[in-house]
Amino acid sequence: MTAPRRRTRAVPELVAAARAGEHRAVARLISLVEDGDPALPAIAAALARYAGGAAVLGLTGSPGVGKSTTTNELVRALRARGQRVGVLAVDPASPFTGGAILGDRVRMQDHATDPGVYIRSMSSRGHLGGLSAATPQAVRVLEGAGCDVVIVETVGVGQAEVEVASLADTTLVLLAPGMGDGIQAAKAGILEIADVFVVNKADRDGADATYRDIQGMIALGERGPGGWRPQVVRAVAVRGEGIEEVLAAVGKHRAWLEEHGELVRRREARAAAEIEAIALGRLRAHLGSLRGGTALPELAAAVAAGRSDPYAAADRLLASLA
Ligand code: GDP
Repeated sequence: MTAPRRRTRAVPELVAAARAGEHRAVARLISLVEDGDPALPAIAAALARYAGGAAVLGLTGSPGVGKSTTTNELVRALRARGQRVGVLAVDPASPFTGGAILGDRVRMQDHATDPGVYIRSMSSRGHLGGLSAATPQAVRVLEGAGCDVVIVETVGVGQAEVEVASLADTTLVLLAPGMGDGIQAAKAGILEIADVFVVNKADRDGADATYRDIQGMIALGERGPGGWRPQVVRAVAVRGEGIEEVLAAVGKHRAWLEEHGELVRRREARAAAEIEAIALGRLRAHLGSLRGGTALPELAAAVAAGRSDPYAAADRLLASLA
């Protein structure tokens, strides 16, 4: 992956500037993450010691359900408590265009000039491991920049977004009445990842039915002893209503995570996913470079001619990587 070299400052300097709260340095580091820049290992090494400094909230839901509005209000409430907040709005990147569907739309103007808030839309434009590798790295940048809370907002339309959301300490799933969300929730598997359900647009008809549907689904779900029972909160994000209740549910979940050793478990699971994504990305790059070499073409010729089989050839290819 060849990323354009626009680097003007060395990594340690950039990280120091980000720690000092310089927004430009934070933005630059996240761009390097998105681009899959060759400096990534150095950035990750410089940020490693700040890991775990932020509470990571995942926020997902169908388009139009009120994610941006809710995030905006959550940021407001957290700022009122004096917390530094980072927001990553993750755009699902199409494998066909390599670009972001949502684009870099201007979000959350309310907080645009607040030095205690970092807002960033991101896609996995150049990152070999895709969003599942790029997002945790961007979270690390925001942790390094001293954020107390990082909100990762994703559009819950595909498995990748669900995976990204599930990398959070606490995952919020937004629903709204009249969107057939109950069925959608089950289909996308978001029922399993949701720690807190937010029934947004509670000012609309059908909100009570949605609330009951979700409660019914939760009641049917399996839970071990001491297991977390997902909370369901009603909100009217456009009016800022229910936001304190959402934060209270998040706080309750956080206490449960800590009490049951789940915070460590989740973070280790997140680290495992990161390592795997990076390793697979490297493997893919390696295999790509083999295509230009002789090993793969020779093996392919042998398989095509019936002198070998694809499994044996794959084993030999992997052995040649070692
Ligand atoms: P997103 O696509 O999930 O990020 O959704 P947005 O936050 O952009 O909201 C989509 C639309 O729903 C906007 O027009 C919002 O003003 C509106 N909206 C958000 N929250 C509420 C709410 O609680 N009640 C009502 N009636 N509309 C809302």
